[in-house]
Amino acid sequence: EPLARLAQVGKTFQNGVEALRAVDLEIRRGEFLSLLGPSGCGKSTILRLLAGLANPSLGRIDWPATEHDLGFVFQEPTLMPWANVFDNVWLPLRLQGQSRATARPRVEEALAQVGLSGFDRAYPRELSGGMKMRASIARALATRPALLLMDEPFAALDEITRMKLNDDLVALKCELNATVVFVTHSVFESVYLSDRIVVMAPRPGRVVAEVAVPAPQPRN
Ligand code: ADP
Ligand code: ADP
Repeated sequence: EPLARLAQVGKTFQNGVEALRAVDLEIRRGEFLSLLGPSGCGKSTILRLLAGLANPSLGRIDWPATEHDLGFVFQEPTLMPWANVFDNVWLPLRLQGQSRATARPRVEEALAQVGLSGFDRAYPRELSGGMKMRASIARALATRPALLLMDEPFAALDEITRMKLNDDLVALKCELNATVVFVTHSVFESVYLSDRIVVMAPRPGRVVAEVAVPAPQPRN
């Protein structure tokens, strides 16, 4: 049973732009799914619909799962500049009513998962772009969301940092029990990271192909 299912979803904005037309899409439990396509094909709109930040104009989104707590990682790191790394990652737990002390083990675990152990007292301005992105991922993971939504998270980073983060995300994916929907316009990233790729095209935004990516074979 999928986590969520989009059925004939359409989205037309006030200005008349048809961002999505008749999108049928299943989000399968535990998969790493990439939405791949050029700018303007509606990838972010799908994430925003999944996050409940917007509503479809047509069609339906069904959530067969009862729990669908989610984490969102945006392209621009959205850390609070006045708060240190610990407090930034604590935020979603704090919103659930957890004190700093109660949340500490989970915050430290999330920081370890993204390779930021020991950086809890650092402020965002002290971190490199890659490390800011790691902290943003830790914050999204803090609540152990069933669904992690990532919107071109590495697009603003230099090539080398981006490759490192891709590698670490592959490792993290094995450790997490989460379902991930990852938006990218990089064929390399989508093939490297995903179990499944949904290819989209613009004007109007729509799904044009679905590709399963077999796991790499071990060497003999
Ligand atoms: P992608 O993430 O693939 O680049 P988007 O989902 O951001 O695509 O946008 C799809 C289309 O919808 C684009 O043409 C974009 O300009 C338009 N669009 C996105 N958000 C809005 C909005 N809030 N109001 C009007 N048009 C929008
Ligand atoms: P990545 O994005 O893969 O973590 P970066 O290129 O951002 O790598 O940073 C390279 C390395 O430099 C980091 O792994 C980290 O160890 C170190 N570094 C970067 N910024 C700081 C900082 N503010 N304080 C301490 N070490 C830092």
